[in-house]
Amino acid sequence: MGDWLSPALLEEDAVYLGVLTAWGVKPLSRLEYSVKPWVLTLFRRMALVTASVTRYAANGTPLHHLVFSRDAQLVEQYRAEFDQRKLEGETARLVRREAYYFGYPPCCAEEYICTPDAPNDLPPADQTLLFHRACSGCVVTPRLLPLYRAALAEAKRICRHVSSHPWLSSETFFSGLSAPDHIEGCIMGNKAISYLTRA
Ligand SMILES: [Zn+2]
Repeated sequence: MGDWLSPALLEEDAVYLGVLTAWGVKPLSRLEYSVKPWVLTLFRRMALVTASVTRYAANGTPLHHLVFSRDAQLVEQYRAEFDQRKLEGETARLVRREAYYFGYPPCCAEEYICTPDAPNDLPPADQTLLFHRACSGCVVTPRLLPLYRAALAEAKRICRHVSSHPWLSSETFFSGLSAPDHIEGCIMGNKAISYLTRA
């Protein structure tokens, strides 16, 4: 996702994760940085359920994460598993749990566990769209890529809209946008939702 030091790109990344999660491409997502209130308003309008989760670094420093999903039970499950726990090293079990929550294909998780540095055959531009490393010869990831591309385009559209309407209150922020029609029907068995239109 490019320059991680830029607050604008972090904001776009948060919205990107929000769109992927609202569309059901990712069952649950996690932010490890804070975001402006309008992003949380957007998540609410996307019908995402959020929860804050506190983890502890090895030296005892608390770290505050925000997790969100369309599925309140999944958020609660994640919270029960990780809240108030120490950060652990990357184990095979953790990779599999995160693959389950974050929607990473099991084939990619298993290859990552065995050979974390194995090269894959994905073009670098496609790999940077993802939050998991595609396994070599992956047959699942190529089916996800169009959704990731569409979600990133949507996130950029939302961020452009917000930056060009700074005077709008959070109540009316998103009333001028509607979910793109072409997404309907291609979201992994879930119905697309018109999260940006008023109910
Ligand atoms: Zn794979």
